[in-house]
Amino acid sequence: MDSGSIRRKFLEFFEKKGHTIVPSAPLVLKNDPTLLFTNSGMVQFKDFFLGNATPKSSRIADTQKCLRVSGKHNDLEEVGIDTYHHTMFEMLGNWSFGDYFKKEALAWAWELLTEEYKLPKDRLYVSVFGGDKDDNLPFDQEAFDIWKSFVSEDRIILGNKKDNFWEMADLGPCGPCSEIHVDLRSEEERKKIPGKDLVNNDHPQVIEIWNNVFMEFERYWNPEKGGAGELVKFDLEYKGDDKKVARERLRSKLTLLKPLPNKNVDTGMGFERLCMAIQNKTSNYDTDVFTPLLDFISQTSGIKYKADEKTDIAMRVIADHVRAVAFAIADGQLPSNTGAGYVIRRILRRAVRYGFTFLNFKEPFIYKLVPVLANQLRDVFTELKAQEDYVGKVIFEEEASFLRTLEKGLKRMEGLQAITGEQAFELYDTYGFPLDLTSLIARERGFSVDEEGFRVEMEKQKSRSKAAAAKETGDWVIIGDDVKSEFIGYDHLEAEVKITKYRKL
Ligand code: ATP
Ligand code: MG
Ligand code: MG
Ligand code: MG
Repeated sequence: MDSGSIRRKFLEFFEKKGHTIVPSAPLVLKNDPTLLFTNSGMVQFKDFFLGNATPKSSRIADTQKCLRVSGKHNDLEEVGIDTYHHTMFEMLGNWSFGDYFKKEALAWAWELLTEEYKLPKDRLYVSVFGGDKDDNLPFDQEAFDIWKSFVSEDRIILGNKKDNFWEMADLGPCGPCSEIHVDLRSEEERKKIPGKDLVNNDHPQVIEIWNNVFMEFERYWNPEKGGAGELVKFDLEYKGDDKKVARERLRSKLTLLKPLPNKNVDTGMGFERLCMAIQNKTSNYDTDVFTPLLDFISQTSGIKYKADEKTDIAMRVIADHVRAVAFAIADGQLPSNTGAGYVIRRILRRAVRYGFTFLNFKEPFIYKLVPVLANQLRDVFTELKAQEDYVGKVIFEEEASFLRTLEKGLKRMEGLQAITGEQAFELYDTYGFPLDLTSLIARERGFSVDEEGFRVEMEKQKSRSKAAAAKETGDWVIIGDDVKSEFIGYDHLEAEVKITKYRKL
């Protein structure tokens, strides 16, 4: 089954179960100050879960473009090194807003995977929340009992709070999760170690594919305890190494759980991982989601994929990163020097440098992948096809500009045994090396970077340039109130992209 059919089947399956299919929200968030990028399917529905808005339908399904490169979910350093974490990926999801609950959600998940996609049952493991005594969170008996009707007990794993309990914040809706994992190892390997022992253990072929979150509780301040004030005091004053654990313990003492009157289901399945399982591959990059990109990279560089670990990683990184960068730009986030724009610039510069060092790409190259990607996804994410030329041009310019200094910067790093804060800052300021890139290269060469020292230098620079009148905020220039300006039009106006231009008078 090709990836297009796999995606379609998911949406059709849930449509038949009464779900309304909605489009993906953009990757870039402008109305949520807590997040730079959409990092899961539920983000666009947050207001429904918080009770601030009512959904049009109580059953919704979609495929959501996600980016996990900052904040709570940051997979950047894994990408390309492993074969199942991406920067940008699609999360297939189905939701119930006060409608169906665990019984239907788990039964449908099982039906879809084993009957529609025909994944072998003896390769699947499921997990349920095992409870947490310190935090007074109960074992999810209900999910356990439901799973028992589909799988034998030795395929059910009792998970901890980190893997199997979801919450958005200190307070508010929360609840247990139940995940589905797949074991893609050879029969021989499976005989040696039971798959159950490898679940949630970073094994590249025993991987999580689907997370089912059951929002059934609400956490609220215990009126008899200290409340917010005590937690704020803790955040400001506590200096111990175990801050995270101690904070959890304190919060648990200050809060209580009550059942939510309207229970919700929020699920997320990694599309690329699902394709790997269905297509019987052992790497996401061997599925048809990535092979067109990898083939192109391989042909253009004249280097075979799977010939050498170093060039393989470089190829995977580029195939991955072009997706993140292209979709971010198509959704309105141009590379820039601050905020979300800088995250995109950093990702692109990493890709450029992998190509330069390992694949001999000395000229802009990544922009050439945009048409490959746009054509591949032309029916699913029309925004990329519609802006193909524009996105390609932005990437070309970025590549060309970084390639002007990359080689000199790399030369500057030669012969160094360690990188001081000043040197890291010089690489950043003069050669355009983001700190994470300098650290990555340093790691490859087995030495370290004084990241703290870099930050000190950065602060010095900031105070030097504070006086600037125009404040760069990412995609557009906000001119200070005291400066007169005249609107001179939109640079570009398509889909979600609006770049407003003002001229100083
Ligand atoms: P993992 O433990 O593998 O990092 P996760 O528990 O962080 O995954 P969830 O937040 O539960 O992931 O997201 C739901 C699903 O999205 C996962 O089950 C997985 O299939 C997929 N997924 C998560 N992160 C990535 C990623 N970086 N690249 C591709 N798919 C991902
Ligand atoms: Mg993760
Ligand atoms: Mg996980
Ligand atoms: Mg998970």
